[in-house]
Amino acid sequence: MTGPVEPRRGAVRPVSVRLTGGFWARRQTVNGTATMRHSRTWMDRLGWTGNFRAPGTAVTRGREFSDSEVYKLAEALCWESARPGGEPHDDELAELTALIGGAQDADGYLHTAYGRPGQPRRYSDRHFGHDLYCAGHLIQASVAAARTGRAPGLLDIGIRAADHICAEFADDGFCGHPEVETALVELYRVTGERRYLDQAAAFVNRRGHRSLPEHEFGWQYFQDAVPIRSGTVFHGHAVRALYLAAGAVDVAVETGDDELLEAVARQFDRTLARRTHLTGGMGSRHMDESFGEDFVLPPDRAYSETCAGVATVQLAHRLLLATGDPRYGDIVDRVLHNVIATSIADDGRSFFYANTLQQRTPSEAPTFKKFSGGARAPWFEVSCCLNNMARLIASLGSYFATEDSGGVQLHQFAPMRVEAGGMVLDVDTGYPDDGVVTVTVVEAPAVPRTLTLRVPEWAAGADGVHRRVFQAGERIRLDLPMRPRWTFPDPRADALRGCAAVEVGPIVMCAESTDQEDGVHLDEIQVDTSVAPEAGAAKGRRAKPADSGWPYRSHRPALERPDPVVVPLLPYHRWARRGPSTMRIWLPTT
Ligand SMILES: [Zn+2]
Repeated sequence: MTGPVEPRRGAVRPVSVRLTGGFWARRQTVNGTATMRHSRTWMDRLGWTGNFRAPGTAVTRGREFSDSEVYKLAEALCWESARPGGEPHDDELAELTALIGGAQDADGYLHTAYGRPGQPRRYSDRHFGHDLYCAGHLIQASVAAARTGRAPGLLDIGIRAADHICAEFADDGFCGHPEVETALVELYRVTGERRYLDQAAAFVNRRGHRSLPEHEFGWQYFQDAVPIRSGTVFHGHAVRALYLAAGAVDVAVETGDDELLEAVARQFDRTLARRTHLTGGMGSRHMDESFGEDFVLPPDRAYSETCAGVATVQLAHRLLLATGDPRYGDIVDRVLHNVIATSIADDGRSFFYANTLQQRTPSEAPTFKKFSGGARAPWFEVSCCLNNMARLIASLGSYFATEDSGGVQLHQFAPMRVEAGGMVLDVDTGYPDDGVVTVTVVEAPAVPRTLTLRVPEWAAGADGVHRRVFQAGERIRLDLPMRPRWTFPDPRADALRGCAAVEVGPIVMCAESTDQEDGVHLDEIQVDTSVAPEAGAAKGRRAKPADSGWPYRSHRPALERPDPVVVPLLPYHRWARRGPSTMRIWLPTT
């Protein structure tokens, strides 16, 4: 099986591996059974699937982007059905294909909230209408159908939608929410129809000239303030910015537009250096779900939308395929283990929309309307994140390894079977709990091959490159140091100054109130970074400042009772699974 991203050019080629156990295989099982069923149940209950059943009725239920959730679920069901060991969902896919196709207009337009008597006109809200955004997800679902051989008929629906878009937007216009760009390039990759690629390129190039109506958050909210070619850093709504960047990479790769590729890579580098939380999460502003300025990274106001995490994985993977630069694997590793793994509940039936890095008050149950907070919710009015994770996790085997003419590159570590670069490999590891990765050669050609295991930035010095004639049965071992380590923020990140965090391998650790000694509040903890942290704890002291009527003083505040304490820590992705709690990743230092 192939995956969601299949470039025709690039430094390395994608391959799909079979995850055979461990951290992500377990989540794939929960995803393919519980999460997809849960999602369908909610969308039926709220009428989002029902909207497709009654084309011609004026009133639709949900929001202007609710159609996209049905498409994302269809995409996820395709990947899951084709995944080795996955749960087949062919009957549901057949039903969804009929449902979706039944709502498509004769000219290929498909959106249940526009264009019919009593509804707003098609494309009448270029700001926020999400017509093309939804079409993009439809097209991506149709690509998944084509690549997996599932959902017969869905590809034709996607093609009709794309043909309509090419006719309607031949000369001008684009969508307030990027997404269709990357979808059109992928449809070009499936069909070979050049007009889809040209349309995607036009959408990328038209953007950035303030041609959309001005938004209350400014043109930068939807990346219409500066052409992406001349941008310096990602800005505005984080998910929009990352989807656009992914589409721009796709266009750049297929058209040989190195200037565009370099522009995106440069902006991603700067975004990672200045606008990314320790977890790999992106987004610092709740009001407009946007990046902050450089170094605006307050842990207690971190937005870090789960979809921004999904989009970061998608973008980094595209840049990895284009350039072969293994550094992109580092951010994928970080986001998977600290954003995606955090968002989803163990049973796959609730999730975080925003992934805060600090919870100051014991988390309350979230509500349908309120996306941020310290507890996972079964569903939100805007439930983009759960189906986004469902399609990512179901296709996760496409993100772990690549090949080129010289051999195989392993970018992520899990128990898995890899068939690539002329070799068959079995990988065994307890990663991320354990740093030993053992690769057993099952088959290899009688010519030299290069097997490259990514050495994460925190494991510098390890050697991951092996070139020789490999023999069946031989083993290659990579031993990554999993000693807990202190991590300090850039001093320009004001909200983090004077704090440190603990990381273990790719895992960001946190302190949760549930684990602290009786009476120790997380606001009162200071950690001693002169003492090496242990996996489950750091040494420090309890240092309660004296309360006063005004929180500013002419001198440094004295501390009441600076008692030594041990601060228990746990992986950030495990927090908020034991009832209401407070939590922090960044810990003030003594
Ligand atoms: Zn989302």
